[in-house]
Amino acid sequence: SSERKGKSRTPSYLTFDDIGGQDRAKNELMEALDFLIKHEEIRKFGIRPLKGILLTGPPGTGKTLMAKAAAFYTNSVFVSASGSEFVEMYVGVGASRVRDLFKEARSRAAKENKESAILFIDEIDVIGGKREGGQHREYDQTLNQLLTEMDGIHTSDTPRILIIAATNRKEMLDSALLRPGRFDRHIGVDLPDKKGRRHILQLHAANKPVSPEASLERVAGETFGFSGAQLESVMNEAAIYAMREERAEIGQQHFSLAIDKVMMGEKTDREATM
Ligand code: ATP
Repeated sequence: SSERKGKSRTPSYLTFDDIGGQDRAKNELMEALDFLIKHEEIRKFGIRPLKGILLTGPPGTGKTLMAKAAAFYTNSVFVSASGSEFVEMYVGVGASRVRDLFKEARSRAAKENKESAILFIDEIDVIGGKREGGQHREYDQTLNQLLTEMDGIHTSDTPRILIIAATNRKEMLDSALLRPGRFDRHIGVDLPDKKGRRHILQLHAANKPVSPEASLERVAGETFGFSGAQLESVMNEAAIYAMREERAEIGQQHFSLAIDKVMMGEKTDREATM
């Protein structure tokens, strides 16, 4: 599914300007990132370091993009993993993978001469889901290792490490993860409004011949409830329709077909999982 969303095509260096809409989330995140940048002041005031930021919101809204932009903004190395990688690992393997991630963050920062590292964990709910009735799960050790690593982060450490985690099921998370000093800063990354959709469409139109007659404003108006990932698909599908018709430019009719196609695709996805 990551292929479908075009994740693999995302460049590793990405700025906040490459993210459409999400003004509030971007501002909240930049404000939080100042904790990493202004560490001298933070230390002087005896403020405890910010260790974990949780990005919450529906799939495809740009949480991964936000984490990458955060690394660029703070001049940090970017190391990432997904909670789903830890599923069905043998007992103990998940925990050592977590240790390795922190090690990788530290060694890459040293090698690239950076003072900080951002460690991104997508789908944190897979390893950090609520533990019910003391049941023992194979990935409890993975979660425990993550908490141990987080508790071991100090203001004076070099490199400074910040963990950004993403989930679309915040209510499923174990409270141990949300305690002060862990993921205690939450930022909602919601579906874009019309202005945000327009901005996202514009960003993805940058390398495409869109007819001056076509209106992205209208496309934005017709895509209520679409995520950034779906809007990227609309742009891509519209280009495919135009190319198949051997047109020189993408026209409004191609956008209409693309909107229908993306909407239908989502519907069949949902039906398939039901
Ligand atoms: P998931 O929760 O499913 O991992 P996500 O919130 O991390 O999703 P991303 O992986 O950041 O979403 O976005 C997927 C793709 O969708 C991006 O590579 C980009 O092409 C497009 N996209 C999503 N949101 C935006 C946005 N705000 N601006 C521009 N492009 C976006």
